[in-house]
Amino acid sequence: MELLIDKTLKELREWAIKNNLERFRADQIYQWMFKKWEDDPAKMTNLSKELRTWLKENAKFHTLEKIDKVEAPDSVKYLFKTDDGYLVETVLIKEKDHWTLCVSTQIGCNVGCKFCATAKDGLIRNLTVGEIIDQLFWVQKDIKDLPKPWNKVRNIVFMGMGEPLANFNNLKKAVEILIDQKGIDISKRRLTISSSGILYQLRKMANDEVLRNVNLAISLNAPNQKIREEIMPITKTNPFNELWNLLVNYPLPEGRKITLEYVLIKDINDQIDHAKELAKLIKPHRKRFKVNLIPYNPSPILPYERPPQERIYAFQKVLLDNAIIATIRWSKGQDVFGACGQLRAKREIPLLNN
Ligand code: SAH
Ligand code: SF4
Repeated sequence: MELLIDKTLKELREWAIKNNLERFRADQIYQWMFKKWEDDPAKMTNLSKELRTWLKENAKFHTLEKIDKVEAPDSVKYLFKTDDGYLVETVLIKEKDHWTLCVSTQIGCNVGCKFCATAKDGLIRNLTVGEIIDQLFWVQKDIKDLPKPWNKVRNIVFMGMGEPLANFNNLKKAVEILIDQKGIDISKRRLTISSSGILYQLRKMANDEVLRNVNLAISLNAPNQKIREEIMPITKTNPFNELWNLLVNYPLPEGRKITLEYVLIKDINDQIDHAKELAKLIKPHRKRFKVNLIPYNPSPILPYERPPQERIYAFQKVLLDNAIIATIRWSKGQDVFGACGQLRAKREIPLLNN
């Protein structure tokens, strides 16, 4: 059985030719998959009957198994299982006039941020291109009959489990499939890669002709080396100043901004002085940045807490008073444990030696 959803149109045509199908059959199948979100060959009505039967036996349209779906008022968490038994979580977030899908790129993560539940298990493995695309495919299949604009995911953020840039090649190919106008056709302005800021990976992204056109969000989480190092140990080898320098000089497409994500953790990085230090840093470059404050989502396995609401607003006010764009992400998905940092690698069937 050949998986089809991880192929570019070019690859799908090559596959068709290799299997003695006409090239245009690949285009038809591609449109069934990525325009109509169809995963049943029997329903691909413009294909010949023989081809439909052949597809049923020789091709597959999913690599993840859909296990569960948990609905909250403004978010839906989907749980999938990989071929090798790991769980992958994807969160569909309801915004004012569109859906945003929060996609995972790895099982676990080895960046090791102290406050993040995903870090607890280390990195188990990268997700494949098919596993990245299938998260969207299953969700689309689920929502495709809703009235407009709720029948299509508009924005995708690579902010689920894992460090997207650590899975560079698979991420890149997934992005190429997502933005292809002949297929899924999501605008590159509506894709966002969220990264912890490992310098060599960011440089690679800046130099990549596909990924440099996608939005960049950096999990800054601190106004200086000392605090960042405490909560994000990668800062020891990826110094704060160098990261800041890179961001100030990052080759941004016209009219775009880099998002600075800042998880507000009680008594760690949430003081007024921290806000002032951050504002001072950003102010000279405020046209290229916007700040997204994320009140900490507690996890039963971690000791950190969310600051009181007044402190969150006071922090934001310092930034706003300095004419810096600063929003607060009152995390959706908390009630389904799908909020930022609550996603954790799990294996449904535990390994024998575990
Ligand atoms: N690895 C990437 C993307 C996934 S994490 C990154 O770090 O950017 C997505 C965001 O969730 C990051 O900004 C991270 O700082 C934040 N986050 C992690 N744990 C959190 C928690 N418990 N509460 C709130 N945000 C959290
Ligand atoms: Fe990995 Fe992001 Fe969690 Fe850090 S915050 S451990 S980079 S998933």
